[in-house]
Amino acid sequence: MSTIAGNLQAVEATIQAACSSAGRDRKEVQLLAVSKTFPAEAVVEAMAAGQRAFGENYLQEAVDKMAEVARLQPGVPLSWHFIGPIQSNKTRPIAASFDWVHTVERLKIAQRLSEQRPPERGPLDICLQVNISGEASKSGAAEAELPELARQVAALPNLRLRGLMAIPEASNDPAQQRVAFARLRRLFEDLKAGGLALDTLSMGMSGDLAAAVAEGATIVRIGSAIFGARHYEQ
Ligand SMILES: *Cc1c(COP(=O)(O)O)cnc(C)c1O
Repeated sequence: MSTIAGNLQAVEATIQAACSSAGRDRKEVQLLAVSKTFPAEAVVEAMAAGQRAFGENYLQEAVDKMAEVARLQPGVPLSWHFIGPIQSNKTRPIAASFDWVHTVERLKIAQRLSEQRPPERGPLDICLQVNISGEASKSGAAEAELPELARQVAALPNLRLRGLMAIPEASNDPAQQRVAFARLRRLFEDLKAGGLALDTLSMGMSGDLAAAVAEGATIVRIGSAIFGARHYEQ
């Protein structure tokens, strides 16, 4: 078995254990394999082990990789999720190439994605990124702005607002990890109570996957636990 296939099995076992101790159905949690900085061959290896959803942070790297994967393994339907910071001059290729975007934090970006989404691709699935750690992170919408932003984004024609995403401040303490995820879940429940039809909580990475599943994650974004340590940052 390849290293990546073995790592995927180990991650799968962690997700199953976390689901069962939380009393959740395994089907409620989708594994997004974060392939940033790894080559198309690594994606193909994960595909051979059955993985079909991949997350990328850097637009040009992602677009090149998608083409290379399609050349190496033609005809396998994959779902590509953009999970990196979005510059407003890069929204067109993001809207054209991806199935999901997890990192929308401003209305202007959402408006551009909606305008630029090719009609034949159907609505683009969206999560709003929330800054749940306050000053610790500069990314994400402020909690106070969230209800208004969510209402506005949900009204855009070529997007489908699915839920919320966050990257909490890193912590090795599972109890502390859960506090941050519980906070995101609470914001999610409040938006649903306010009438928005949301179904996605994108939270949990290699170091805090179990805590995220315990607090209700429906998509976990796992990179290094599947592909190994990243050797460069862009
Ligand atoms: C890189 C990245 C991940 C994966 O992180 P790991 O710790 O390698 O699992 C998840 N989400 C986002 C937004 C990332 O940028």
